[in-house]
Amino acid sequence: MKPAPFEYTAPSSLQEALALLAEHGDEGKILAGGQSLGPLMNLRLATPAVIVDINRVVGLNEVADSGDCVSVGALVRQRSAERSAVMAGETPLLVEALQSVGHVGVRNRGTVAGSIAHADPAAEMPAVLIALGGHVRAVRQDGDRLIPAKSLFETYFTTVLEPEEIITEVLLPRRPPRTGHAWLEFAQRHGDYAIVGVGAVVTLDEATVCQSATVVCTGIDSVPYDASEAAEMLVGSTVTVDHCAEVGDRIATACDPGSDVVADAAYRRRLIRSLVPRALQVASLRVRNGVPGGK
Ligand code: FAD
Repeated sequence: MKPAPFEYTAPSSLQEALALLAEHGDEGKILAGGQSLGPLMNLRLATPAVIVDINRVVGLNEVADSGDCVSVGALVRQRSAERSAVMAGETPLLVEALQSVGHVGVRNRGTVAGSIAHADPAAEMPAVLIALGGHVRAVRQDGDRLIPAKSLFETYFTTVLEPEEIITEVLLPRRPPRTGHAWLEFAQRHGDYAIVGVGAVVTLDEATVCQSATVVCTGIDSVPYDASEAAEMLVGSTVTVDHCAEVGDRIATACDPGSDVVADAAYRRRLIRSLVPRALQVASLRVRNGVPGGK
């Protein structure tokens, strides 16, 4: 199918883009990589009257130092983030998760910010943003605001962003010392959206006692499922295989996944029981062994 007719605009400055979005309100739609918006428009599931293509806006395509955070500009392609040495060192969870996002062709165009704004509960980037405790900067004509990841996602494909706001940067805290990360997921074929994905972040002290543990899952709720409360049972002791299994069990019992043509709820729970313990063990082993993903 072809998209419904629309007006195409390609502003070259942020102010111009913001003015267009303010003028058109609900009728306007930002185009970044087009890897989600394009298919939605072709299927006529999205029928915006005006496209605001931000690809010519200067100053939005950098990975930059922002104090305690790494700043990922709105036009940083997923593939650039995946290949960024800074991100490999400071935000390895995001780099690891990106390797499972679609295929290289998709990642060459798709942006990190676009994936977060799209808010697909099966997508990797929103879950990573929550697992790392990141923020997005949302800018409108009359100001800007920092939105914490935990308050950003409302439900399926819906965020708290207003139609006239642009995410100009994604802010990801630098990895703390002795912190390991792991992203694991199960998909029918490599490059498919995962049936369930799991991101784990674990911090150990010098005696390998767990100081903090975070788990965020995709594919089991209308927004990324933050299971950190269950993971916190690891804090204060050495991370063992049995403890990790118990965390997986608690999450599988507490969550309420849906069923669809790909997998039913029971299968998703089995994936949680399998993936969560492995992700926690990989993350903590990476700290102990000092390999990429832990330092
Ligand atoms: P666009 O498609 O341009 O926009 C998506 C939405 O976000 C639109 O509503 C747009 O208005 C809004 N938006 C974009 N940028 C901003 C901004 N800066 N501020 C505010 N709103 C903004 N994704 C996964 O996570 N995992 C997968 O396994 C996966 N597989 C894929 C396989 C295929 C074949 C394809 C085509 C896509 C796949 N994707 C997958 C989606 C891909 O990651 C998209 O790139 C991503 O979802 C959207 O990023 P984009 O830059 O292309 O945004």
